[in-house]
Amino acid sequence: MSLFGTNGIRGILNETLDPELGFKLGMAVATYYDSESVAIGYDSRTSYDLLSSMVSAGIMNSGKNVIKLGLIPTPGIQVYCKINSLPGIMITASHNPPEFNGLKVIGPTGAHPSKDEEEKIESIISNEHFFKTTWDFVGRSRTDDAVTPYIKAVLSNISINAIKNRRFSVAADCANSTTLATTPVLLESLKTHYLTLNSNPDGFFPGRNPEPTEDNLSDLITVAKTGRFDLSVAHDGDGDRAVFLDEKGNFIDGDKVVALIADHILEHEKGNLVVPISSSFLIDRIAERYGVNVIRTRVGAPVVAETLTERNALFGGEENGGIIYPKHLNARDGAFALAMMLDIMASTNEPISSLISKLPNYKIRRIKLPLKGNFDLLLEKAKQIYSNYSIDNIDGLRAVDRDNFILIRKSGTEPIMRIYISSKSDEWLDAREREVRALLAEN
Ligand code: MG
Repeated sequence: MSLFGTNGIRGILNETLDPELGFKLGMAVATYYDSESVAIGYDSRTSYDLLSSMVSAGIMNSGKNVIKLGLIPTPGIQVYCKINSLPGIMITASHNPPEFNGLKVIGPTGAHPSKDEEEKIESIISNEHFFKTTWDFVGRSRTDDAVTPYIKAVLSNISINAIKNRRFSVAADCANSTTLATTPVLLESLKTHYLTLNSNPDGFFPGRNPEPTEDNLSDLITVAKTGRFDLSVAHDGDGDRAVFLDEKGNFIDGDKVVALIADHILEHEKGNLVVPISSSFLIDRIAERYGVNVIRTRVGAPVVAETLTERNALFGGEENGGIIYPKHLNARDGAFALAMMLDIMASTNEPISSLISKLPNYKIRRIKLPLKGNFDLLLEKAKQIYSNYSIDNIDGLRAVDRDNFILIRKSGTEPIMRIYISSKSDEWLDAREREVRALLAEN
């Protein structure tokens, strides 16, 4: 069993996450990477102080220095690691419920470590091959500002003056976590009039669940429906994702955000696109306009990022609000997504709803269910039902019928099953949802 899931180590303190693992991971990262210092950051979860202390202690025990970046989005520490060519450890459970926390390693390029690097770090932990220093070489810690270089990096990709001149109004839901330290700074730099929600740090997440799904955003939707905001944005707990509401308060599907940003980037430069198999065929229609290809991967941001590098592709994104532009950072970045949306809006006189309505109308339905019964048997049965479709097993089972698909997969971060159904036709969506629910009921 691998220590690292899709997106790092996740668990509940002293139940499924032993704080001593923080100490060991700190030592392992300090042992593995050849740098004098390791950066650490955290989100607002209740155990941030405990786990960051354990991780820091481990790093110093291996003779390396700790650079404490404090409350910072994951892409914020990643940009810091990239600029300074040093590894990092982010203490976060991203969008998971409040009881979870987690540990995520960042490589010196700012990206998630490769599978190979992860295995080496894991083997240092399992074999206890830690480097332990002596009294005269023990590490020290200091603090540093990662917000300023992060915002500067995000701003370097957009037309700042064009956005400033528009004086956009933006509502931002910071999820009581990391983006409260950065999104207001970004919006201030772009001379927007902005209103923030859930902008105090609180590990109990009193404002809302940290996963930015439409169901969790009722307060932001109420604010956006006043019609006073050109755009509204909501982040997940660690700020690597951003989802948006239009000027009327309607939730914009993540697939459409990826398509809109891909289209905007492709207007200026050419390159291939990378998306997971859970993305609709909308992105293929955008790629066709520019004569570029779409590469599909398993679900999960690290594999999308890794494929972007391996295939030297231009841009990638996930339908859950994560977008990746490797020239900026080879990882998802919610502030970058927000900056790009404002850049798109500044390049036209149309409201965001009108830009969205011009995209081919592929819909995507996501169903999240507890994992029970025999999953492999379920996939076998599904394979029989969809024997006339084209089937792939890149991640779970995906059955494709022309530009429609149904995908059944296990989550990499939670004990749940995720089902994605995409089509332009509501009848097709309804029919597949009925079938799959019937199938699950008998499993
Ligand atoms: Mg996240």
